[in-house]
Amino acid sequence: MRMGESKHKKIAFLTLGCKLNYAETSTYERGFLEAGLEVVPWSQKADVYLVNTCSVTATSDAKSRNLIRKVHRVNPEAAVVVTGCSAQLRRSEIEAIPGVSLVFGCNEKSAVVPGMLKHLGITQLSPGAAGDVFAAWSSGERTRSFLKVQDGCDNFCAYCTVPYARGSSRNVPISECVENARSAAALGVREIVLTGVNTGDFGRSTGESFLSLLKALDAVDGIERYRISSIEPNLLTEEIVDWIASGTKFQPHFHIPLQTGTDEQLAAMGRKYTTGFFASRIDHVRKALEAPGRPLVFFGIDVMVGLPGETPEQFARTLEFLRDRVRPAFIHVFPYSRRPGTPAASMPGQVPEAVKKERVAALEELCSQLHADFVEANRGIRERVLWESTDRDGFMEGYTGNYIRIRRPWEPSLSGKITEVTI
Ligand code: SF4
Repeated sequence: MRMGESKHKKIAFLTLGCKLNYAETSTYERGFLEAGLEVVPWSQKADVYLVNTCSVTATSDAKSRNLIRKVHRVNPEAAVVVTGCSAQLRRSEIEAIPGVSLVFGCNEKSAVVPGMLKHLGITQLSPGAAGDVFAAWSSGERTRSFLKVQDGCDNFCAYCTVPYARGSSRNVPISECVENARSAAALGVREIVLTGVNTGDFGRSTGESFLSLLKALDAVDGIERYRISSIEPNLLTEEIVDWIASGTKFQPHFHIPLQTGTDEQLAAMGRKYTTGFFASRIDHVRKALEAPGRPLVFFGIDVMVGLPGETPEQFARTLEFLRDRVRPAFIHVFPYSRRPGTPAASMPGQVPEAVKKERVAALEELCSQLHADFVEANRGIRERVLWESTDRDGFMEGYTGNYIRIRRPWEPSLSGKITEVTI
């Protein structure tokens, strides 16, 4: 490394989209810090801006392009480097935006740091890649880190651009996930959220299993809690659930995509389960992890409204399925966004935006009710809270294992510690 060259260079990051993008940006950030660059907030003047884009909806694409234009307008001298899903899917449009110096698609992530350093005239190469999957973990928060274990997807659901943008399913080897978890622990991180596009599909490229990954991570000293972010219901197997329930560091908190509560729409989407299967999997998790006096399991469920052809009656059934059968603690609602090139874009019966808006609002209202019911049902139960390290106007906050946010007066010695509270 020729540190002298990089000392005066400043870099700023702008990230849109999912947890994977944030974990990846955080990893780029560490790479540039190691190379001697100074990281500044994006509102400040920098020599180079890295924009990590998102393409999940048409709005995310537009937001990504607007941000790039804005950065160039505010600081026309700076180099703008663009990566992420929008850079992959709309490369020529992005390359044509004034000010854009370099574009890295999703299969070029390990080239971002060395490529940018080269562009800045700095010689230092340490890509931090694992095969063709870019290993990443976030270090922005002191107590919690998002650890990327998997990327890409082979499912090709009818509405989704992810398999085109991020490529086929592959994973970071278990040994490297463990190494990253140890590095996070050494920085004071106590909780890790396993992140991936299709996390449960872990193992495709290394022949390892998701359960072996969970077992290896469970043994890492210093990390006291794990959560699994977004796992397909068919991949959260009974074997995995039963192992988690056997007394591990994995918390009673699951983020599971449902997308719609009718079998005909699940089939139209190309999802790999029925509503009956979904409900039975939820039942199994509850049976394995819940007991009188113990915390209830937090389920965060993704639901997409307005897939082409979704009738009012089908939407009503989805709402009913969530309200009466699944009863999650949270619903992540997304309106369907028409993405050119996907099968759903040419399906008949596109749902008008105003109708999608109404359906989003109805599910958000149901979500508020279900979340309030969940907190109420946990009242009086003893749970462990990991306290965060931010002083919020004299208060501090933290999450219970089952993801209820708790607030207490600020006490610096508690930050990064786990204590028991009565909910
Ligand atoms: S499983 Fe998820 S990431 Fe993969 S295609 Fe379907 S929606 Fe997209």
